[in-house]
Amino acid sequence: MKDKFGREIDYLRISVTDHCNLRCRYCIPDGIQLVPMHDLLTYEEIEKVCRCGAELGISKLKVTGGEPLVRKGVARLIGMLKRIPGISSVTLTTNGVLLEECLDDLKAEGLDGVNISLDTLDPERYREITGRDELAQVLAGVDKAVKSGIRTKINVVLSEFIRDQDWKGLAELAKETPLDVRFIELMPIGAGALVAGYSNVDVFGKIQELYGTAKKDEREHGNGPAVYYQLPGFTGSIGLISAIHGNFCHHCNRLRMSAGGELKSCLCYEDIIPLRGLLREGNREDVKEAFVRAICEKRSAHCFYNIQKVTEKKYMAGIGG
Ligand code: SAM
Repeated sequence: MKDKFGREIDYLRISVTDHCNLRCRYCIPDGIQLVPMHDLLTYEEIEKVCRCGAELGISKLKVTGGEPLVRKGVARLIGMLKRIPGISSVTLTTNGVLLEECLDDLKAEGLDGVNISLDTLDPERYREITGRDELAQVLAGVDKAVKSGIRTKINVVLSEFIRDQDWKGLAELAKETPLDVRFIELMPIGAGALVAGYSNVDVFGKIQELYGTAKKDEREHGNGPAVYYQLPGFTGSIGLISAIHGNFCHHCNRLRMSAGGELKSCLCYEDIIPLRGLLREGNREDVKEAFVRAICEKRSAHCFYNIQKVTEKKYMAGIGG
């Protein structure tokens, strides 16, 4: 279904939990209020929402969190979503800590791709940023994902915690490995508003100084706003998600749903449409109507360049990124 600005809204990001097994300093600080279990949508309720969405043209789903792999049985959800008529792609974004142990089940249920959030390849720096010593586990998950042939992307958020050695190491990973490394500009949401970010254009310029001139990579990589480039001698591609300096909202095709069942049409604003009550009262048509409302009320653009206007107060882990 198109919104009033003519954008085709065909992508839903679904958070399945606010809980995370890492404490990334720009994403989920200590003390976050978790959604109590009985307030979380069940997998059956999530499936019902997605069936309603699919009837309105949603065809791509991303399962996220918090950390989606900490929710028990999430592979079963992937299978349930894959079987919905009209759904062409179900992908997952994870910090990768539990990926190695979950990947076989996720693949068996038909997962189409995995995004792994990783800001450094240095164990010491990883502990500083995430509060945990899990880098080896994450890298084992990345390796297994690549070897399994599933589409694999690494997401790097350019916050003040990232140093030159970090982005260089990650760029090198794209040189050696058939995966995409994407540099995302930090958005001023939740803890992200208290942390400085920097432009991915600067980083990309330095990457080209090191590796040579990049060529735009026109191949299909996914559903989002990333722009991809190929560098001489690289096996994988480099992606730029220019959330701040490049206003990509005119292409925005997405809605989001929180773990508690709140439908949200823009990251930047606190506006939500609660679905949980509608789902539990069992009225499908009301759920569809809420979807249509979310699409109709979708704003033209975010306002990250003017932080005073950003009304969203939640942490990114509570939204799903
Ligand atoms: N735990 C999962 C993970 O790490 O991918 C899923 C949730 S996490 C909120 C989704 C993505 O949002 C991660 O790539 C994370 O790095 C990114 N993120 C968190 N805070 C951000 C911010 N303020 N600006 C931009 N990206 C952010």
